[in-house]
Amino acid sequence: MTDARHLSAPVPPGGMIGILGGGQLGRMLALAAARLGLKAHIFCDVADAPAFQVCDRHTIAAYDDRAALIDFASSCDAITYEFENVPARTASVLAGLKPTYPNARALAVAQDRLEEKSFLKSLGLGTAPFAAVSSAEEARTAFAALGGGPAVLKTRRLGYDGKGQAKAASAEQAAEAFESFHGAAAILESFVDFSFEASVIGARGIAGDFAAYDPPENQHAHHILKRSIVPGKLTGAESDEAKAIAKTITEALNYVGVIGVELFVTQDGGLLVNEFAPRVHNSGHWTGDACAVSQFEQHIRCVAGWPLGDTARHSDAVMENILGEEAADWLKLSASGGALHLYGKSEIRPGRKMGHITFLSPRTGPR
Ligand code: AMP
Repeated sequence: MTDARHLSAPVPPGGMIGILGGGQLGRMLALAAARLGLKAHIFCDVADAPAFQVCDRHTIAAYDDRAALIDFASSCDAITYEFENVPARTASVLAGLKPTYPNARALAVAQDRLEEKSFLKSLGLGTAPFAAVSSAEEARTAFAALGGGPAVLKTRRLGYDGKGQAKAASAEQAAEAFESFHGAAAILESFVDFSFEASVIGARGIAGDFAAYDPPENQHAHHILKRSIVPGKLTGAESDEAKAIAKTITEALNYVGVIGVELFVTQDGGLLVNEFAPRVHNSGHWTGDACAVSQFEQHIRCVAGWPLGDTARHSDAVMENILGEEAADWLKLSASGGALHLYGKSEIRPGRKMGHITFLSPRTGPR
């Protein structure tokens, strides 16, 4: 494996930021890059990716197409990605050619729930109690070892928005859930009877400087984020703790870029980390309307080696995801007084993230 390249100087306006992945996150990253006078080259394996509509250059190729990756990298000054399941080999090829952020370790940890939870635990951060499961028998043992309460079995890899997850109320159910995953390695977690869910969007610059946005309260429906509210139900102390958690994680990973850390706030006000995403995050979309510098611009600033921007919130915000058929109401939504963002996806599918809308109100409270 070749050594990773590092940025020796900030990418100047006119420079090219490579972005792996052409979904809505890539699209909003490309738009943010454009605001700073930077260009975006999107690499995606599907032909009608939403980000293609707003970028300077695009490449349609498989993520393991080495020649296409080399060609892509040659056009870029720095590279990033909009999804965490970038194949390790792809990340390694790119990182050997051009500065690629966040780094390979952040990707590797975030791609494997067991690695991730073990890493978080090693930093002294709270998580749901968990155990590794690689057989039906281990699922039964793990269920007992976690105290015999309700639990969630999750595949170690490639799970998102509740996919690759099953609840288990007994050792037998845990074993059956494992069987239903067709042998995929998994972890069993205690089910957390949380008070509510929250997240924190942090950013670490190339010089190790850190900033975080005010943590939203997040509401989910069918495992998909429906709404982020800022300020939500977090107290000032919880808010500060959430930001400190993001700082601890990014420092431990020598991270460069924006990170999204998902949290459970327990009934007694404790914060447990569910997982982190080494990228911009859906629960940070409100920053585009309620802060001077959005999470997308912040990420581009990090990847391009620019100073971090201001994360202060000038307004309170409620961000609603527009899912599936809700997008058919675009005209009504456009008249609702919110800041409307539509992602340019050609086809509506049930539960598909089609856009979001942010409702702003004058800023209240200290956070
Ligand atoms: P994840 O794929 O880990 O982000 O989980 C998706 C959603 O499932 C979370 O946002 C929670 O609503 C729920 N969830 C995941 N893990 C747990 C857990 N250990 N206890 C309770 N709810 C959970």
